Amino acid sequence: MPERKEKFYLTTPIYYTNGLPHVGHTYTTVVCDTVRRYKRMRGYDVVMTTGTDEHGVNVERAAKKAGIPESEFVANMAEAWRALWDELGIAADEFVRTTDIKHVRAVQWLFKLCKENGYVYKGHYTGQYCIYDNAFVNDAKPGENCPDCGRPLETLTEQNYFFKLSAFQKPLLDFYRKNPDFIQPESRKNEIVTFVEGGLKDLSITRTTIRWGIPVPGEEPHVFYVWFDALTAYLSAVGGPDYEKRGMWPADVHFVGKDIIRFHTVYWPAFLMAAMLPLPKQVWAHGWFLMDAAKMSKSKGNVVLPRPIANMLGMDALRYFMLREVVFGQDGNFSYDSLVTRYNSDLANGLGNLASRTAALIEKNFAGRVPKPAERQAQDDALAKEAQSAIGEVLERFDKMEFARALEAIWGVIAAADKYLTTEQPWALGTSEADLERKATILWTSAELLRIVSALAHPVLPDSTAKVWTLLGQTTSLDSVELDGLRWGQLVPGTALGKSQTLFPRVEKTEAIERIESMANEELNSASAAPKPASAPAAPATTAAATAAPVVPEKIGIEDFAKVEMRVGQIKTAERIVGADKLLKLTVDIGTEIRQICAGIAQYYEPEALIGRKVAVVVNLAPRKLRGVESNGMVVAASVGPEGRPVLAGFLEDVEVGARLK
Ligand SMILES: [Zn+2]
Repeated sequence: MPERKEKFYLTTPIYYTNGLPHVGHTYTTVVCDTVRRYKRMRGYDVVMTTGTDEHGVNVERAAKKAGIPESEFVANMAEAWRALWDELGIAADEFVRTTDIKHVRAVQWLFKLCKENGYVYKGHYTGQYCIYDNAFVNDAKPGENCPDCGRPLETLTEQNYFFKLSAFQKPLLDFYRKNPDFIQPESRKNEIVTFVEGGLKDLSITRTTIRWGIPVPGEEPHVFYVWFDALTAYLSAVGGPDYEKRGMWPADVHFVGKDIIRFHTVYWPAFLMAAMLPLPKQVWAHGWFLMDAAKMSKSKGNVVLPRPIANMLGMDALRYFMLREVVFGQDGNFSYDSLVTRYNSDLANGLGNLASRTAALIEKNFAGRVPKPAERQAQDDALAKEAQSAIGEVLERFDKMEFARALEAIWGVIAAADKYLTTEQPWALGTSEADLERKATILWTSAELLRIVSALAHPVLPDSTAKVWTLLGQTTSLDSVELDGLRWGQLVPGTALGKSQTLFPRVEKTEAIERIESMANEELNSASAAPKPASAPAAPATTAAATAAPVVPEKIGIEDFAKVEMRVGQIKTAERIVGADKLLKLTVDIGTEIRQICAGIAQYYEPEALIGRKVAVVVNLAPRKLRGVESNGMVVAASVGPEGRPVLAGFLEDVEVGARLK
């Protein structure tokens, strides 16, 4: 009977659905996804949960503003979040929505347990209330104005259920003492201990002034309030009342931003203690990515979106940057400048260059098969030793969530290999038997190092390392490689290399930043213009027009047609655009000048086949940017078939470049 694997359960926060994910949310989720992949490669049975927190007065308001029912609003939001994670290659095992029936039941069950054990009582909550927004303003004092609408607040008392948090001061402090690793990093622990030592007040956990929430059974109009609802999602994702059957609870780690650590290390364990349920093993609070030293937020207008970065540089580049640039747990600065710099230096010139150099030399000298190493020299052994010892170090760093240090160790080995190739110069060796043997040893060593590095970096760079893996002719899936079995020397000579592909094309910094920013603006504008929040990020702005009711085309006069200036152009150069699968960047001679024009034909035309071709060009179209690339004019094409395949307009007879079409 196969031995049951050890389980590992980890979670991202259950994100609030009043907006769409930015780089801050992406960071937590990428960390979680990295650990999920890493633990799988260490042989664990892993479950990762993420999800959306869909209740509360803010959702009520946003739905009202959008003119749709709350249920529809949150369904759109949840879909947008899920779609983005999918698009970014982050596949959580569980996606909880707090409006799911299984979650509703779990919250009601947890409440029942707390109540049966005597930790819940009915009381009165008095606070400052805005009657226009229908909401209490936490921490406001009598006489203050509403921070949302500016109107005067009123003191209001309502009946609430309270949770006896005050009873858990000692149990919590005991728990922290017995489980010194529960709160991470260490610096956050002191902050929490001090807070709990200062005394805990009972907590209001229901509201009667909010409509959009989970009802307290038999106690309507009471609904559960924020944290009692949202935190329970971690448990409802893996079985709720039946958690023992699934065998995943308690969580091994909850990843959270530092702003919500108190709820996770004080409220959440107290709720679970009251219900006599097992407590999570660890809560890890990370810092924020700051833009110009300020926290990223929608209201400050300084958010960085993940999608444009992934489009331009690939998702692996963003993942690498986030985990490499800051020490996990601390705040870090986000700038496009350092993102692109890291991309070029570490990925394009580092891993990418090593992989393409090694593969090209094996291709050229050994017909694309991994050569058999001959007698080793001291420098070969030194590199082997360095790679072998990196394995141990990297695993240890990952175990401690020291992602930056793990990547540093891996890139240290890549740099050593680079230096090794530069010193050994396999390309300068001849074809004598001795030279061939030496060449074989060097290239085998370099390829073996790449294999080790790909496996070690896979949790952080899942796509590109899988490409290197295939390039090295490895047929097993990299996800299923067990890191514990990874050893120097396992690369089998004679293995046929896979097809080579560009991993990280070098980019020009200014241009890359401009294009990322322009794509981000497009996304932000279409998000704010769209009537429904969810339709904005998933679909390009143009679909709004495409789905509008059909209109009968109006006839135009000849003078209108005369406004369109079309000329014969000849394509001089054509190239693909990194980050835009459908676009080709063309330079076109229109007789009077050479124009740069982008055309959405990349999926149907090879760039090389277009050089010299004569096309019809609209030359007086206002310049615009497509995916951040300037396009000055338009190449005319027929749109064919249901998928709208473009077929370039052309001429059967030879025509002069620059001739006007009439
Ligand atoms: Zn107000």
